[in-house]
Amino acid sequence: MNKATGLPAEGLDSDEIRARLTAFRENDLAWRSGKLWAYVYPPPEHVAVIQKHAFLEYLTENGLDPTAFPSLVAMENGVLDFCRAHLSGDDQVVGSFTTGGTESCLLAVKTARDAARARGIATPQMIIPVTAHAAFYKAAHYFDIDLVVVPVNWDTFRVEPAAIEAALTPNTALIVASAPSYAHGVIDPIEAIGAIAAKHGTLFHVDGCIGAFLLPFLKKLGEPVPAFDFAVPGVTSISMDLHKYAYCPKGASVVLYRNAALRAHQYFACASWTGYTMINPTILSSKSGGAVASAWATLHAFGERGYLDAARAILEARRAVTAGIASIDGLRVLGTPDASLVAFTTQSPELSVFHIADEMSTRGYMVQVQLAQGGGKENLHLSLLPQSQGEAPEFLAALAEAVSAARALAFGPLVTMVQAMAPQLAATTPTLETVHSLLAGAGIDPRGLPGRMADMNQVMNLLPPAWREMVLVHVVGSLFHP
Ligand SMILES: *Cc1c(COP(=O)(O)O)cnc(C)c1O
Repeated sequence: MNKATGLPAEGLDSDEIRARLTAFRENDLAWRSGKLWAYVYPPPEHVAVIQKHAFLEYLTENGLDPTAFPSLVAMENGVLDFCRAHLSGDDQVVGSFTTGGTESCLLAVKTARDAARARGIATPQMIIPVTAHAAFYKAAHYFDIDLVVVPVNWDTFRVEPAAIEAALTPNTALIVASAPSYAHGVIDPIEAIGAIAAKHGTLFHVDGCIGAFLLPFLKKLGEPVPAFDFAVPGVTSISMDLHKYAYCPKGASVVLYRNAALRAHQYFACASWTGYTMINPTILSSKSGGAVASAWATLHAFGERGYLDAARAILEARRAVTAGIASIDGLRVLGTPDASLVAFTTQSPELSVFHIADEMSTRGYMVQVQLAQGGGKENLHLSLLPQSQGEAPEFLAALAEAVSAARALAFGPLVTMVQAMAPQLAATTPTLETVHSLLAGAGIDPRGLPGRMADMNQVMNLLPPAWREMVLVHVVGSLFHP
């Protein structure tokens, strides 16, 4: 072995590599257990076999140059043809296949910024509801756009169209709304916002990353789904992930635009350097053909019937889970979930969702924690899958037990300490050093976070957002070394 780099002197054989990969997995969440209510959107086994085959088949092909591998162009066009029709787009609507929701959202924002600049707006602004996905905060950060964050109605968790209209300025480059939002799973009033966008001639992006694929299937099943897509006048772009409710492997999303002239602002071409002339429709340049081939294969392996059956199961799961949560003493569902996502919280400050989350993990379940923000309380988030329908009774029984157990739990001294410091912290700007000493002073080793996370979560909940963010940078920076 080369001691400096860690590489074996001679390459290892396939059995050895497989064994080591299995060993790496030791502490991973067991997503096949059905107890992970976040992060993974696995297809049924027969589709999994097909999508893996398709991914490997095109693993080595490079999407860099569309003339080199016309197969990748054909499959991308096939995927986008479906997506356009699925979202009521006419033949003017065009799009791009991207690596994920974040890239789709980043590109929609970059496109709007460049369209605004072309119209002479030097300092473009973007209006988003506070419930918009973090990807839009990231886009504003990356692309240097003024972010105008509008609060939502804290009972429905939907943005009020009047609040959007009041935030418009001559520099507004883009309005964003969600269909539905990740945090609470509710659809913003897209038609009303579309009318405002059309009236003021502003671009309007609908973030359908998590819901746009599913919603038309729910509608076909008779659910009252409000119009949210290109059928709505004023909507100029939509993002829709295929690696969520289309069950494609990760690295699959699309962003669609009202017309090719708008999409042209997304493209980047470079003929000024000394190498090959480069044209990148999306952010990446070299990229495996695997994701697009696998997405195409997954859509065709499911077919219309497969997705309708999956949507029906999700609908049943949502009914069971929302009713089940509402019937557990001390819990309540936030808002009225429109699709496949459910957020819930407790009815009293003595019962903490963070203790409930810990109690769920001791029972093998992983549910996502969401911190308090604006007028919204800290809560727990569930992403429902078709298989959640069958798993719901066991999940709800575990949840009822977890709630009882959590009632007996209290926060430790660390929480009291941070509570006392919170006003002082809010007045200062965190740095990596101040966060490091805060955690070290509290005896927290970021590389060995405790199994029970309630105290740490409550500390985060008490901290102002800037401190929360710096804690995350510090903790995750400690995980990745070098
Ligand atoms: C998941 C999600 C995104 C970001 O997608 P990634 O694929 O995780 O990058 C954006 N918006 C919404 C509403 C989402 O649910």
